[in-house]
Amino acid sequence: MDPSTVLRAGLLGISKSDKVKNLIENAPVSRGVVNRFVAGARTADAVSAVVGLQEDGRLATVDFLGEDTLDRRQASATRDAYLDLLSALSDRGLTANGAAEVSLKLSALGLALGADGEKLALEHARQVCELAATCGTTVTLDMEDYTTTDATLSVLRDLRADFPWVGAVLQAYLHRTESDCRDLATADSRVRLCKGAYKQPESVAYQSAHDVDLSYVRCLKVLMEGEGYPMVASHDPRLIAIASSLAGKNHREPDSFEYQMLYGIRPDEQRRLAKAGHQMRIYVPYGDQWYGYLVRRMAERPANTMFFLRAVATK
Ligand code: FAD
Repeated sequence: MDPSTVLRAGLLGISKSDKVKNLIENAPVSRGVVNRFVAGARTADAVSAVVGLQEDGRLATVDFLGEDTLDRRQASATRDAYLDLLSALSDRGLTANGAAEVSLKLSALGLALGADGEKLALEHARQVCELAATCGTTVTLDMEDYTTTDATLSVLRDLRADFPWVGAVLQAYLHRTESDCRDLATADSRVRLCKGAYKQPESVAYQSAHDVDLSYVRCLKVLMEGEGYPMVASHDPRLIAIASSLAGKNHREPDSFEYQMLYGIRPDEQRRLAKAGHQMRIYVPYGDQWYGYLVRRMAERPANTMFFLRAVATK
């Protein structure tokens, strides 16, 4: 077995162990790492993080941590957390013109809850969108593993009928994504393009980093040439340079697309892009479900382990 497979199996193993969870949650070194990648446990922590980002011209999309909910009450509680978050952001004047928006995982809103899961997640997402509209901001649907792509795009279509500004995430590692980009590169359509963070089978996804990067560039071309609003979610300097060049080639104004990065990753580059007049949005996770967020991200793809380890090493 190759080392990355062993690493992945090990990480997935500890992600299910309560004993290891307690150990890791209480270790001082973990808290340091968590504090770097997660804004905090409470709504107020997320609001403070957004205030800090806006101080130097960075936009935000806030994610209430949690996913794969198999409990109706939990799905409703997640919706309530988003309503509370939007109200708190709006009260502080942080949502004007979409400066701070929210990112939703449909699996946290009930998508996996049996036969009517999709309907339930749609209803919860709709309630979040209604309040977002009142607050003058937007909502983006995160993309999870490939088994949920069709359902997520179906919920997106339903939501966009009433809220045309709802955005979606597309993952460059999926074979289907170039075609999804063509479908979504329409007027007003907000599309966040990322590489993809889940371990996916060869039948549906490119496996090598090189092939994923090539697909990312093909998808980016489609989005930049299209009529929508591309959101370039990557920390990869080569892809950021290519995005900038494609934006120029397609005569895009700086307000017709944006860059996005994760909270705590390459903060100096985030500030540099914002200072240079680009729209730079930061994905801000908060909540006490951080253990799964960090460990699963590391386990899902060996590249993610390096992603977090590199960040810790450059602390
Ligand atoms: P990587 O391949 O991780 O890194 C490429 C290069 O970037 C590295 O070689 C290095 O040069 C540079 N780099 C990376 N990290 C650092 C660092 N810490 N310090 C210095 N240089 C560094 N995935 C999903 O599947 N679904 C989603 O809904 C989703 N939403 C996302 C939202 C946002 C805003 C972002 C930024 C990512 C999201 N992701 C999502 C995760 C994404 O799919 C990738 O797993 C993650 O962004 C890592 O890919 P990368 O493009 O940054 O490149």
